[in-house]
Amino acid sequence: MQFTSHGAAQVVTGSCHRVETEEFSFLIDCGMFQGGKELARRNYDDFGFDPKKLDFMILTHGHIDHCGLLPKLVKQGFSGKIYATSATVDLIPIMLRDAAYIQEKDTEHENKRRSRQGIPSRAPLYTRDDAEKVLPLLSPLEYRTPLSIGDSLKFILQDAGHVLGSAIVELLITEKDKLYKIVFSGDLGQNNVPIIEDPALIEKADYIFIESTYGDRLHDTRLPRDKQLMNVIKKTINRGGKVFIPSFALERTQELLYALSELQTKNSDFPEVPIYLDSPLAIKITEVFKKHPELYDADAKFRKDQPFSFPNLKCTLETEESRDISKSNEPSIVIAGSGMCTAGRIRHHLRHGIDKPQNTLLFVGYQAPGSLGRILLDGAKEIKMMGRTFDVKAEIQRIGSFSAHADQKGLTQWLQVFSPKPIKVFLVHGEEDTIANFSKHLKEQGFSTGISKQSESIIIN
Ligand SMILES: [Zn+2]
Repeated sequence: MQFTSHGAAQVVTGSCHRVETEEFSFLIDCGMFQGGKELARRNYDDFGFDPKKLDFMILTHGHIDHCGLLPKLVKQGFSGKIYATSATVDLIPIMLRDAAYIQEKDTEHENKRRSRQGIPSRAPLYTRDDAEKVLPLLSPLEYRTPLSIGDSLKFILQDAGHVLGSAIVELLITEKDKLYKIVFSGDLGQNNVPIIEDPALIEKADYIFIESTYGDRLHDTRLPRDKQLMNVIKKTINRGGKVFIPSFALERTQELLYALSELQTKNSDFPEVPIYLDSPLAIKITEVFKKHPELYDADAKFRKDQPFSFPNLKCTLETEESRDISKSNEPSIVIAGSGMCTAGRIRHHLRHGIDKPQNTLLFVGYQAPGSLGRILLDGAKEIKMMGRTFDVKAEIQRIGSFSAHADQKGLTQWLQVFSPKPIKVFLVHGEEDTIANFSKHLKEQGFSTGISKQSESIIIN
């Protein structure tokens, strides 16, 4: 059998791994490259395989860097089933319709520029119609329930503890009367985060493909993250500012809402200001969370949907409302997408507020190289956005421990549960330097490692 990464090989986004056995050919994930323009351009490249020849695919979770190229795949002839957990199946229509809308709008914008320069226009990567064609192929599965595909292949989805519905994939492949077990970690979450369960522990595997996003870093745990959040909010509101939180709509936003609700309940000195959830996408996704309380951990089960609806939370669906918030100087907390400031309403809030020293821009998630978020996090004194240059005077803060990804310690501990040690651990989904450092670290822990490289096949027999 052979495994080929067509994305998320020495880069964090664009997850797309092709598995070929004697009987089947299938994908695990078909994600979009995200971050700067350079990465985004790769979405237009050839897949490097024929989508018509795939038998089916398995989707680990609903993040766009794992599912965002599904409409392109179907447009190019893929017609097999797409297996995912039922929560992921509920999230995909919301995620893909939003992604397609962004594609259409970006292309409109790009074509105006091209027309000014006399360059031929281009078609969007895919449209909302293309996104709709993916939906009938989605096939929901439950965690821990094996599914056999023919005689030689079986797979099981386990909770990855990363976002609602996220899965680790256990593949059981029989070739020449020999059974192989290969585990794809998908994106792995941290232990003890609010709402969802911890990543499932798996005890046996011959080979593992593990994500490495934070493979060479430890999350800052000196102060509990809720305390860090409280400090940033109090400091900013006390000086009359606004706290802008660019947030990924899936999971991070719901965790933030959960944390803000907890802080307000437990601290009488929490500032009495409006909290705006200014993201139609995140608002819709929060409704999917409310539909799946069976996936909550014990604490969240106890609180039911209360963390997602508290008195000073204002969910703003309309553009008008969003515009009013961005123009107002009233102290407030604004959660808006996109998570890396590459699109969405957060850019309008930054347009009005990034040059004001009383405000804070608080990052709570991964920022890909080249993204506006990364540029700001790296300390830029001015930024170019929406055709203008803005001075950066707002305070820039980051709370790393909000990450939905396990850090080096978390990833290593998850691997150490496998007994005996796997024959080899292949590293995917990490920046090049991070992967090299993580590989070195794992070797010191006695693991044999390999690095999955773009379009290079790994043969296992
Ligand atoms: Zn993810």
